[in-house]
Amino acid sequence: MDTEWADADRLAGLRDDLVVTGDRASISVEAPYTGDELAEIPAGTEADIEAAVERVETAQEAWAERPVEERTAVLDRYADRVLDAQADVLDLAQLEAGKSRRDAFEEVLDVAATADHYATVADDLLASEGRRGVLPGLTKATVHRHPKGVVGIISPWNYPVTLAISDALPALAAGNGVVLKPAEQTTHVALLARRLLVDAGLPPELFQVVSGEGERVGAALVDHVDYVAFTGSTRAGREVAAAAGRNLVDCSLELGGKNPLLVLDDADPEKAARGAARACYANAGQLCISTERLYVHDDIYDEFRDAFVAAARDLRLGGGFSYGPEVGSLQNEAQLRKTVEHVEDAVEKGADVLAGGRERPDLGPYFYEPTVLEGVTPEMTAFDEETFGPVASLYRVDSTEAAIERANDSEYGLNASVWTSDPERGAAVGQRIDCGTVNVNEGYAAAWASIDAPMGGMGDSGVGRRHGDEGLLRFTEAQTVAVQRGLRID
Ligand code: NAD
Repeated sequence: MDTEWADADRLAGLRDDLVVTGDRASISVEAPYTGDELAEIPAGTEADIEAAVERVETAQEAWAERPVEERTAVLDRYADRVLDAQADVLDLAQLEAGKSRRDAFEEVLDVAATADHYATVADDLLASEGRRGVLPGLTKATVHRHPKGVVGIISPWNYPVTLAISDALPALAAGNGVVLKPAEQTTHVALLARRLLVDAGLPPELFQVVSGEGERVGAALVDHVDYVAFTGSTRAGREVAAAAGRNLVDCSLELGGKNPLLVLDDADPEKAARGAARACYANAGQLCISTERLYVHDDIYDEFRDAFVAAARDLRLGGGFSYGPEVGSLQNEAQLRKTVEHVEDAVEKGADVLAGGRERPDLGPYFYEPTVLEGVTPEMTAFDEETFGPVASLYRVDSTEAAIERANDSEYGLNASVWTSDPERGAAVGQRIDCGTVNVNEGYAAAWASIDAPMGGMGDSGVGRRHGDEGLLRFTEAQTVAVQRGLRID
């Protein structure tokens, strides 16, 4: 494969940074573009997690004592370091995740922007603040922000750089240490992203990585840390939350979605269709905030459908390390099977495939064409289950009210998109959709790119927010020190 990262020794060099306390079984990792084995990673154990947490604990106390400016200076340098090393990060993210270079680029952008953002705002957010209480004048209360201690991060494979590192950055700025359990499939690129942090001046002991399976290593991590930031499926999220509850540690859960897109009657159908295609098929649909349900007003339905089908067919599908292909591979066999099953089930029960609906073994083992379904009904899996693949269902609605009602008819509540020629109307409609982020005249990028605004899910899409002030303050304990100012009952 046309990248130097496909070299076994180079990958082994990254694995030197893993915490491995003894002989371990190994897990085979493959390159999605070809299906060939790329490497073997250690199947970590609870002992590895304990060792990692112990190392971080020692380093964390000294880190928390350092002035905030020194901590944020590391983030500032990290933004530069990631941009300097972007070719390596992009290559390795593509190699392990099978994504297109365009999709990988979003990760580099997100990580650099997040580092830059928290480098700028952490000082103010962490400053102690005076508060006035119910008896002003009698007490003087000050709120101090202390770090939680050791933050455990569990990340998925779909955005293997962003989702491994973007939570670590505010956690570190707030004075915490980090133990990361990346997805098995994308361990190496997470190690590379962490190594760049060390290059930027982070004490290496402060950020440890343990590889391995979720049920074993991920579950052990939750039992040994002071806060858990989990990103992944709703199923695993529930288990993590239950364990965090037993241990009485706080957690944030960034989970799945079945995200709606609304095309209102006054939208430009061509523009909306092009935007919707990006919203549905970015990262081959393996994006928690990507669109899978489109509710289109009757007045412009036909025009929108034709333009959307054309846009889906126009997308360039393919592998390789250039910016040519727009849509890459699915990451693994299970992901491909789920996508195929959702489409087959819909077709068997009467839905029409307007575009795509085919595997592309000529491109690689897990490529699947951007697919448009019409006539999807509640008894079909694709109606309400997250496909997490390049499959979108079109629905005709006769009013904005109906579109809002259908959008809200979901257990999930992660991200939504509204298309209209009147942005104010779009923003007003957006506030009535039960999702943590809503994009007007954008698929997902508007909310995702607003690093200073919170982002996260309602309902089965999760608990807590990343980005924004909330994205950093969750990694702190607020402590109130209240001083009596002289009132006495003698
Ligand atoms: P997954 O839940 O299988 O795995 C995610 C991570 O959790 C992996 O590191 C895995 O090893 C670990 N894990 C699995 N079971 C665990 C357990 N019992 N205890 C602790 N850790 C465990 O998810 P996936 O298939 O890798 O990712 C796809 C899912 O992630 C989709 O549902 C997608 O929508 C969601 N996701 C959400 C966001 C978000 O920000 N909301 C972002 C990306 C992906």
